[in-house]
Amino acid sequence: MILVSLDGFRSDYLDRGVTPTLTRLAREGARAEAMVPVFPTKTFPNHYTIVTGRWPANHGIVGNEFTAPELGARFGMADRGAVRDARFWGAEPIWVTAERQGVRTAPLFWPGSEAAVGGVRPSYALPYDHDLPDSARVRQVLQWLDRPPPKRPAFLTLYTSVVDAAGHDFGPDAPETRVAIAQADSMVGLLAAGLAARGLEDKVNLVIVSDHGMTATAPDRVIELDTYLDRSAFEVDAISPVLMAHPRPGLEDSVYRSLRAAPHLTVYRRADLPARYHLAGSPRVAPIVALADEGWVIRRRPLPGEEPWEVGYGDHGYDDSLASMRAIFVARGPGFRRGLVVPRFRNIHVYPLLAELLGLRPAETDGSLDSVRAMLAHPSATSGSVRRRGSARAATAPASSSEAPAPR
Ligand code: AMP
Ligand code: ZN
Ligand code: ZN
Repeated sequence: MILVSLDGFRSDYLDRGVTPTLTRLAREGARAEAMVPVFPTKTFPNHYTIVTGRWPANHGIVGNEFTAPELGARFGMADRGAVRDARFWGAEPIWVTAERQGVRTAPLFWPGSEAAVGGVRPSYALPYDHDLPDSARVRQVLQWLDRPPPKRPAFLTLYTSVVDAAGHDFGPDAPETRVAIAQADSMVGLLAAGLAARGLEDKVNLVIVSDHGMTATAPDRVIELDTYLDRSAFEVDAISPVLMAHPRPGLEDSVYRSLRAAPHLTVYRRADLPARYHLAGSPRVAPIVALADEGWVIRRRPLPGEEPWEVGYGDHGYDDSLASMRAIFVARGPGFRRGLVVPRFRNIHVYPLLAELLGLRPAETDGSLDSVRAMLAHPSATSGSVRRRGSARAATAPASSSEAPAPR
């Protein structure tokens, strides 16, 4: 099983006529009309939900940046120490489930893969290297696949950020983003060719996902926080498009009221966050959360010495029910039906699906296999390709009952 993430690949990018490989894989396999992300629709919460099947409040990665009060520590995706610190990473990622059941894994660059989650490290992993070219990433994955059978991993991941980067810099509809979409498709093509050359095309389940979509932003759709309140009144974990703010002691009400005056901004106290965000229960969510309307960005004036922050032409992080935030799910291989398109589903269901295909007993999850079972070639069989003798199938936790009717 190879799980590929194309960061920021919006669901409709598949319809732009520049993705021959993904289109072929979808035709030869199963595809969702879209995959619905979790809120906030950012990289780290979504990647970690995909591999754990848990809502962010239940796995602890509630943003790309947040404060963990129980640790007295801050997490930031660019903080090398934090991404390796297992205390931030809750729940059980699929590679830990696999390693615990005797299956080797190699999650290349997946958020969480550098930490010993639950005390378990993947057999193979590398520190995140933003500058490693995508072709070299594919070569690394193929190299791991070329290991002799006892050392060969049965679960691997691959990641590229080209599409996300172009989306931020130029916007989702820009020609540069179209080029990046084609580039990501080529990376998948390189991987597929590598598999075919090894005679593995029909032995490997290739699952291609993205973490979230992208929407257009513009320099004239900016919420300037300084217009509404003094910057000394609060600290921020994250600023845009979801502001996570810690008011100074005693200023909770005034910060809340001041932010409420800002147009294009919806302000919540943590406890009042809508249930559909599944965030209210986490102490890692800041006391005040303010969400910009789609396409609006939040900014603070730079302090003296701080770099001014350039407003880009695309962003994500917005409400998870927006069509523009939707991600992709395409899967091809012996475990999947061919030529099937299923209605959109939530990314919490990917973990139980991966566990099923790997023949693993899943850990506790918020997703359910039933929501994605239709895509399986052998829906009721215990057909995991690396299923080991004597491993009994445990039932998955019941599907979350707090979901709105759609999506599944
Ligand atoms: P976002 O703005 O939420 O889309 O974050 C995208 C960025 O996350 C990418 O440009 C990467 O630099 C970064 N990123 C992705 N995976 C990792 C990782 N495993 N470790 C550190 N940073 C990562
Ligand atoms: Zn992302
Ligand atoms: Zn991004």
